[in-house]
Amino acid sequence: MASKLLQDIKFLPGVGPKKAEILQSELGIYTFNDLLYYFPYKYVDRTRFYKIRDVNGNMPHVQIIGKISVLQKTGEGHKARLNGVFTDGTGSLDLVWFKGIKWVMKNLKKDVPYVLFGKPSLFNGRVNVVHPELDEYKEGEQTTAGAIQAFYNTTEKMKKNYLSSKAILKLQMNLAPVARSEISETMPAWFVQKFKLMPLREALYFIHFPDSNERLRKAQFRLKFEELFYIQLKILSLKSNRTQKFKGHVFQVIGDKFNSFYHKCLPFEMTGAQKKVIREIRRDVGSGHQMNRLLQGDVGSGKTLVALMCMLMALDNGTQASLMAPTEILATQHYKTLQEMLAPLHLNVRLLTGSTKTKDRKIIHGELLDGTLDILIGTHALIEAKVAFKNLGLVVIDEQHRFGVAQRAKLWQKNTIPPHVLVMTATPIPRTLAMTVYGDLDVSIIDELPPGRKPVKTMHFYDNKRKRMFQFIREEIRKGRQVYFVFPLIEESEKLDYKNLESGFETIKKVFPEYHIGMVHGRMKPAEKDEEMMRFKNRETQILVSTTVIEVGVDVPNASVMVIESAERFGLSQLHQLRGRVGRGADQSYCILMSSYKLSKESTIRLETMVRTTDGFEIAETDLKLRGPGDMEGTQQSGLGFNLKIANISRDGELLQHARNVATDIIDNDPLLQHELNNLFRVQLKKMKNTQFNWSVIS
Ligand code: ADP
Ligand code: MG
Repeated sequence: MASKLLQDIKFLPGVGPKKAEILQSELGIYTFNDLLYYFPYKYVDRTRFYKIRDVNGNMPHVQIIGKISVLQKTGEGHKARLNGVFTDGTGSLDLVWFKGIKWVMKNLKKDVPYVLFGKPSLFNGRVNVVHPELDEYKEGEQTTAGAIQAFYNTTEKMKKNYLSSKAILKLQMNLAPVARSEISETMPAWFVQKFKLMPLREALYFIHFPDSNERLRKAQFRLKFEELFYIQLKILSLKSNRTQKFKGHVFQVIGDKFNSFYHKCLPFEMTGAQKKVIREIRRDVGSGHQMNRLLQGDVGSGKTLVALMCMLMALDNGTQASLMAPTEILATQHYKTLQEMLAPLHLNVRLLTGSTKTKDRKIIHGELLDGTLDILIGTHALIEAKVAFKNLGLVVIDEQHRFGVAQRAKLWQKNTIPPHVLVMTATPIPRTLAMTVYGDLDVSIIDELPPGRKPVKTMHFYDNKRKRMFQFIREEIRKGRQVYFVFPLIEESEKLDYKNLESGFETIKKVFPEYHIGMVHGRMKPAEKDEEMMRFKNRETQILVSTTVIEVGVDVPNASVMVIESAERFGLSQLHQLRGRVGRGADQSYCILMSSYKLSKESTIRLETMVRTTDGFEIAETDLKLRGPGDMEGTQQSGLGFNLKIANISRDGELLQHARNVATDIIDNDPLLQHELNNLFRVQLKKMKNTQFNWSVIS
């Protein structure tokens, strides 16, 4: 980047030390270049002028040329206000100021032509504009009127220090001549031509000062495309480097264990989707490259079986396998399921969690090292440095979003040849997001549920329908079913959370004196929690009251009703996860969302979405739109800071796909970007911070 653009922002005319400090602390703008890349968040078309007779209170913004005919102050102190009348020969409208009255009275003149700009609204049957923008109108002179005006996000603190959106625009004007002479192209000429991109210099000008909608679109396209393209190029080039650097175990054979399990022990026919995924994995692990695959499949889609079959592939090829789960309950459940299913094969399968006794630990450590242990299932305890394998060939990570990046990295180091990694998640990640967050992982999807499942029926009740809900529950329990009640977790206040749960528990006990009711929450010891869960699983309790600790993976097929209290307080993906706890058996299951009357717009959309669909991907897409990518589960933990400057993952999905295709082509043809024509790509990638993409080597 040219040197002048790297100057401290305080040296830009109109800034100075005070404003520079605010630009830094509020927006992270340190240099000329930072300001140049501070893009408007919206544009208002000021090429169009209205006549007052055509203006009504529903229009978003209008621009009118006219004169002020009246200016009159009323009231005093905080009741003071200034009223005006604005006319243009076709009619009149009212102007109102609550603030800055002194300044307005001193500076605005009556009977002089002004360009008025503002949001009209209807008040007492008349159109008025509160705090209008008024610029003296001089024919031929350049003002924002007559152009497309850019608006910049600002903060309260900025506004107080004279850094309004308009002021930022002014600074951009001061910066423009410097930028014009200093910007150099960041994409090769052939590329700019091929994709009909606006040159960078022009794009960076018109993004701030568009003179037509068409130019604005071109500038936006160029900058968004560049941003997405370089991220994809970076991800793909890291991936290709990694594939070249690390040779994976080659699982050459489908052996005895896999075959005899498949033919003799499989309790049911695999779904087409399960078979497809196993084929994809098989291809990967036989290729000589280390596998890094994300397996997405909705709750109940049968991911465990896929994991099991893959672990058998590993064993058949002389290596050990490991399955890691985020909680003790889940690890234990996996252990029991796998042990049962694998019993006829006489494998050595063991469980390692935080509560494994020292004596057993020692045995496990020994067996891992001498290779007599085949499959190790466990929690985070697996990652400890003490846990060393003789030859680890495959690691399966269940419900991956609960693991931090650093934890996954440690698994990699457990073998000289890095093990194949299969990450499983029931939180569907929208395709566009997966392309970025997990852009270097290969993705497999189980998009089919085992046959005979009935979709969970979801209902939304306001609190006044509580009696009816209790009645419904009673009927279900009479039929022999079991019921979950989930209360929200209030992270700031564990105490309050507990109180919520506690009083909920008391109420439910009073309503259902004839039934046994259990309770689990985060403050219980793992052993106590397990005991409660087991009581529920064994049908000793009919109702389980809990916080979200039951969210992940626990399988109680006889539970057919999930009641979620204060459902408006849960995120969409969490609601979906919770709902996945029921509907695991053959009976019709229900999810009941209880909420208060006061619902924000977002909560309403969340609850409506839940009632409308059980499709995890549709839910994930909605979630992404509601929350934006920065908040998506998985992205915070992934360590990827989403500081996209102009593109938007949820809105620019198509462009992202395009950028990815283009980047794929380039890397496929020139993996190390050594070709002369690709020089500029290499230079640009070098400039991108590697830290931002650390996750890609360890996922
Ligand atoms: P998840 O993908 O949520 O981890 P699980 O692996 O726990 O799902 O599977 C959910 C349930 O479906 C389990 O009880 C499992 O035994 C059963 N299941 C898995 N695959 C099939 C299949 N192909 N046919 C019938 N039932 C299956
Ligand atoms: Mg599971």
